[in-house]
Amino acid sequence: MIVAMLHDATEEEIQHVLARMVEIGFNVHRTTGTQQTVLAGVGQPASFDVQDFQVMAGVAEAHRITSPYKLAGRGFRPSGTVIRFPNGVTVGGDEVMVMAGPCSVESREQMFAIARQVGGAGAKFLRGGAFKPRSSPYSFQGMGLDGLRLLREVGDATGLLIVSEVMEISQIELMLPYVDCLQVGARNMQNFNLLRELGLIRKPILLKRGIAATIEELLLSAEYILSGGNYDVMLCERGIRTFETYTRNTMDISAVPVLKHLSHLPVLGDPSHGTGRRDMVAAMARASVAAGCDGLLIEVHPNPDKAVSDGAQSLFPQQFEKLMDELRIIATAVGRNIGPRAREAALHAKV
Ligand code: PEP
Ligand code: MN
Repeated sequence: MIVAMLHDATEEEIQHVLARMVEIGFNVHRTTGTQQTVLAGVGQPASFDVQDFQVMAGVAEAHRITSPYKLAGRGFRPSGTVIRFPNGVTVGGDEVMVMAGPCSVESREQMFAIARQVGGAGAKFLRGGAFKPRSSPYSFQGMGLDGLRLLREVGDATGLLIVSEVMEISQIELMLPYVDCLQVGARNMQNFNLLRELGLIRKPILLKRGIAATIEELLLSAEYILSGGNYDVMLCERGIRTFETYTRNTMDISAVPVLKHLSHLPVLGDPSHGTGRRDMVAAMARASVAAGCDGLLIEVHPNPDKAVSDGAQSLFPQQFEKLMDELRIIATAVGRNIGPRAREAALHAKV
């Protein structure tokens, strides 16, 4: 059940409703948006009459949640979730946030070079996998802890925020000091034990859509994280497997407006994995912004031909810079914005 309080409801009224919800067996999640406080009751309560809540003092409306995802649904936060990161960076506000960098962390030279380039072009987050989920056990599996240390060092030197993939529960504690956001990859979208543990931490999660996952399944996976009390989740469309083989995956651009409609969580587009082809990345990035995404995750490498993973879909830095200029125009056309180039700031970074 969702109980939306009146904007001028007193704390006493809120507590009264909350206590009654707990009494009948709900596990209550409280969120205070810009307009009002919303109480979401989840779990299996004893039978109750929603009308009893509708008439309580301070209540604007109360209704049963019919969708299977209770906390990820838009009703929990009708005005949308804005996730706050260090350095005043937010995701879910007016600015479309761009996260860019190589698929894998490979070396110090590579990471400093790419951080300067993507940061200079206006990206606010540096991406890079230290633990890599590879289809083959013989492929490069990532630099591990050394990669995390490097990411933090580069992030601190450039002011870029760090996003990197967590593959299993045992890596969570290890990663927390080094990253600003933990990415859950497509292959782990339904690793429910991992999702539950991520619900217990207080660091934002970037949750990718599974390779063959429906939108409802993606939202239910987000629900696992939210139900633990971590409400800072970003959803990411990264392409799904269809009968089409020309592109690596089929990027479902319609997932962007659908997710924005169904959920309050910020939505990102990943045109790199969405297409698997460098020559298609810019078009899908532009389309994602036009469709209303809150951010993008883009693979960029200083020397894509030498990349240890996903080189074919990684942009050259100059292509990324040009794309950012195009995205600024599109963002403005749809009432959003993308931060300016930041050459000076990024150039301060020393190897
Ligand atoms: C990645 O971001 O490099 C990655 C492995 O993505 P996905 O989980 O979407 O395949
Ligand atoms: Mn990749």
